[in-house]
Amino acid sequence: MKVLQSVVVPKNSGKSVVVKQGQILRVAGRTIVDFVAFNEHNLRERFDQARTKTNQVKLFISAGDQLFSKHNNAMLTIVEDSFKEGRHDLQKGMCSRKRFEMVAKGLAQRKFAGGVDLNPKRAEEIPDHGCWENLIDALKGRGIADEDIPSPFNIWQTMKIDPDTGAMLDTTVRPKEEAHIDFRAEMDCLVAVSACPESGRGQAIRLEVYEE
Ligand SMILES: [Zn+2]
Repeated sequence: MKVLQSVVVPKNSGKSVVVKQGQILRVAGRTIVDFVAFNEHNLRERFDQARTKTNQVKLFISAGDQLFSKHNNAMLTIVEDSFKEGRHDLQKGMCSRKRFEMVAKGLAQRKFAGGVDLNPKRAEEIPDHGCWENLIDALKGRGIADEDIPSPFNIWQTMKIDPDTGAMLDTTVRPKEEAHIDFRAEMDCLVAVSACPESGRGQAIRLEVYEE
């Protein structure tokens, strides 16, 4: 396979890449990545968490599964997923300055009983930006309104979901070594990612685009 692009995304920052139909995008890292995609030729068509879950009738996706758009077209197929110790998330949105502040002021729940608290504990630990701001920055100049950035596919964000109550329990289950997830583009896609700060635990990630 020929490497067409290789991009390092420093921790708590965002980047975007274009992946043409048939090309493979690899996301490699060890900490949460917030991942969104748009049809490069119609930026109004974008990734949709609900369509992705409903079309495959499940909450967790991995190799063989697809990411669907709001228009119900397959955008990307997961062709390889090396993360075996945990899962990826399709329930949560993105962290942001406002969310951090809401948690700090007690206006949003920190965690569900039994889950791990991933939020900053002290005021001085609150980052001044998070994945929301990183994705806005990554998509700057593309003419996409901030509010049109969809809720993401959260790579390596392992959560336990109580089957009876629906409680979402955060965990710190992440890849022990660098893991990767490979997507084949089913249409020309503009992809944007954020290397989540994860309250200080976040690390840099890598994007690679290949042609087979
Ligand atoms: Zn985040």
